Amino acid sequence: MIPGEGERPARIHDLVKAPANTPWAKEKQQSWDARELATTYFTPETLADGTPTSAVTVILRTKGCHWWWSSGCTFCGYFNDTRDDVTSEDLHAQWAQAKKKFSDFADHGMVKVYTSGSLLEDREIPVDFQKTVLQECHELGKELIIESRTEQLTKEKLAWAVAINPKFSVAIGLEAYDDEVLRFHVNKGFSIASWDRAVENLVEFGVRVKTYLMFKPPFMSEGDSLHHTVKWIEDVASRSDEISVNPMNIQRGTMIDRLYRAGDYRPPWLWSLVELIERVNPVIHPNGGVNGDPDQICRLIIHPTAGGKVRGAHNCGSCDGDIVAAIERYSVSGDVKEFAGIDCACRKIWQTEIELDRSIPIPLGIGLRRRGDGVQNLRSL
Ligand code: SF4
Ligand SMILES: [Zn+2]
Repeated sequence: MIPGEGERPARIHDLVKAPANTPWAKEKQQSWDARELATTYFTPETLADGTPTSAVTVILRTKGCHWWWSSGCTFCGYFNDTRDDVTSEDLHAQWAQAKKKFSDFADHGMVKVYTSGSLLEDREIPVDFQKTVLQECHELGKELIIESRTEQLTKEKLAWAVAINPKFSVAIGLEAYDDEVLRFHVNKGFSIASWDRAVENLVEFGVRVKTYLMFKPPFMSEGDSLHHTVKWIEDVASRSDEISVNPMNIQRGTMIDRLYRAGDYRPPWLWSLVELIERVNPVIHPNGGVNGDPDQICRLIIHPTAGGKVRGAHNCGSCDGDIVAAIERYSVSGDVKEFAGIDCACRKIWQTEIELDRSIPIPLGIGLRRRGDGVQNLRSL
């Protein structure tokens, strides 16, 4: 008998949505105080002209993302943080809370306002609140970064936004510069043509472009991910001011969490990120320079969320700390010498995995658990 015979095949949409509709997820959503920020903190950053500064990240409690309402990306766990009745007044209260905590951002050159969706999407964020954020960051003289999908970045919307704040950046979660991956691995709901158009508009209005790429989306092997991400960086580097590669981390209650718990998905190796940087560095710095040099095409940054932990990008457990630190240093310096002298016995295991992933036709790859004693792991099979 053929498995699933007689039944309609499950759609990726149903798999993505199932966790958000569980009673625990619904209960959690209603437990949030709509007038309280999700979180706010600050981190070291670099201004557009390369000057070191610090940036306050303000993560607002919002209604979430309209794409999530109708479908949703396969790895997105933002539904955990949203509440579907947040009003403009609530958002203004949250914004006031962030400004109060950081004294109108006095000690910081940059503010990142994240909404678990798109700030410039009117169905998600009331227009008067969009205006507040754009206007106040401009008046306070802070570089502003917001996140958006591509559909919102029309000429009309950007003309409206730059009239209020002539200098801000938009970060787009492109994830992959490949329509097949966008559709079947990420369920992104937009195409690369839509990103192309959005970027053309952003450039026309003098808005800076930050591009997020996802390292190792679901249903992709480690070796394929390395191969594809190199290509995607080549494709988008000249049209991005900054590329941020996000190695997959497993957020609770998501579809990728279920794949992970079933043993069908491993978060990426840190070695893959080192290799990725070494392969694409000549694209970013064609004349061998470092960040700030005239040959720089764009800035490449990688901050491995939960790096070194089993739910984030990780290696064998003993070398992780050093490698995460080197990747973080590269994100600031743009200098591949950060990786000089770094090695570990697990590098050979990773290397073999990559070679096999690229030569054996198994789409999910050969990756197995990599923590603990290798012999003990084999005995426990
Ligand atoms: S577009 Fe962003 S916020 Fe919306 S579902 Fe996808 S990852 Fe989540
Ligand atoms: Zn190691």
